[in-house]
Amino acid sequence: MSGAVPSDKVTQPAHRDDLTARALEGVLVLGSTGSIGQSTLDVISRHPDKYFVWGLTANRDVDTLLSQCKRHRPCYAVMADEGSAAVLRDRLAEYQIPTQVLGGHDALCTVAAAAEAPIVMAAIVGAAGLMPTLSAVRASKRVLLANKESLVMAGELFMQEVKRFESVILPIDSEHSAIFQSLPSSNRDTTLGCPSLSDLGVRKLLLTASGGPFLDLPLAEFAEVTPEQACAHPNWQMGQKISVDSASMMNKGLELIEAAWLFGASLEQIQIVIHPQSIVHSMVEYLDGSVVAQLGQPDMRPAIAYGLAWPTRIASGAAPVDWMSLPPLTFLEPDNQRFPSLRLAQEALKEGGALPAVLNAANEVAVSAFLRGGVSFTHIPIVIEQVMARFVSSSGMHSHPVKTSLDLDAILTADGWARDIAQTVIATKSTR
Ligand code: NAD
Ligand code: MG
Repeated sequence: MSGAVPSDKVTQPAHRDDLTARALEGVLVLGSTGSIGQSTLDVISRHPDKYFVWGLTANRDVDTLLSQCKRHRPCYAVMADEGSAAVLRDRLAEYQIPTQVLGGHDALCTVAAAAEAPIVMAAIVGAAGLMPTLSAVRASKRVLLANKESLVMAGELFMQEVKRFESVILPIDSEHSAIFQSLPSSNRDTTLGCPSLSDLGVRKLLLTASGGPFLDLPLAEFAEVTPEQACAHPNWQMGQKISVDSASMMNKGLELIEAAWLFGASLEQIQIVIHPQSIVHSMVEYLDGSVVAQLGQPDMRPAIAYGLAWPTRIASGAAPVDWMSLPPLTFLEPDNQRFPSLRLAQEALKEGGALPAVLNAANEVAVSAFLRGGVSFTHIPIVIEQVMARFVSSSGMHSHPVKTSLDLDAILTADGWARDIAQTVIATKSTR
């Protein structure tokens, strides 16, 4: 399966010629109707002298994409769901908005590769983001990477492609942006793991975690947690899937794997630190004992603004930290018993190969079952653990055993296999 589609299939509608002539940079926002997508559009709107919205994409939320098209007048709007694309096309015609509408997953890859948008925000949630994001990488774009699942599934291949196509990856996850900003002379080589962390004098990366809404919940109450409670994050407004991941701390597990690939760090070089106030966004500890941190409000816009403008800085709309009214900043050890997902992600990183893709796929299936009321909150890590165990025990049967480097087909096969097994585990209620 190849994501790269020649960008000459995408033509520039006449109403945008003036913008490219004025040397504004075109931005494609993959997943524009989501939390990160909306924050990205907010930052871009503050800088009409620098950027224009070339393209927007969504899955099936026609109303939000329509209102974004009215406001930003992009050249292209893509909906992964073909039926939704047809509805959007009709509604845009009613308003006489000349945005061209494409439908289907391949169209996401087509626009991601188009030369007219040198900047791509990768903010689709989950494995669905992998191919469009890779497509942008293979078109040598500046890729603002929010879709951490791409790196979890295909970290090695993804980073090889970044190097091969000289794409520039700017981390958008607040922790990874913080680490990027705290490394010496934040340059693009640092994200490629070269020079190595030890060459940079780094002892370890300190990945902070809020601990989510259940940091202090008695363990006995975990089984009764509702989707509404799990999605009510104390510090961050996010999409449903990442909110549940934050509540289970799988989000930090995924971020551990993300950090390992982005910065060329081993498991031992990354320490997870619970910091409930979410003011310190992450830190880098050096050999001489110095620690460099990046701080700010719990707001994704500074990381997005840094990704857009790197290596310069632009206003993001985020409020400054009010130092005199801050609560005390506290730091705690994570509790793997309370949050077994952390241990599962550590195991997946240690084993490598397709196991992180299996972890990610099983998690996506279990989280969506939890959101539909199909499994309890405590069953999410049980489902994942069972799927991982079956994968490891049958790895001799897979054409690509756990530890080998993988091509895209092998990753997508492992992803599909894990989804099927996770569905079976949930359907047979073998976790209950
Ligand atoms: P969200 O659920 O709010 O939005 C997801 C977007 O992806 C929507 O535009 C949706 O239409 C689109 N989408 C969903 N399924 C799709 C599919 N099958 N095909 C095409 N498009 C699809 O999610 P979010 O909170 O904005 O998170 C997006 C990504 O950014 C995730 O990978 C998340 O881990 C990461 N991230 C989010 C935050 C945050 O604060 N929200 C912080 C760090 C990282
Ligand atoms: Mg994060």
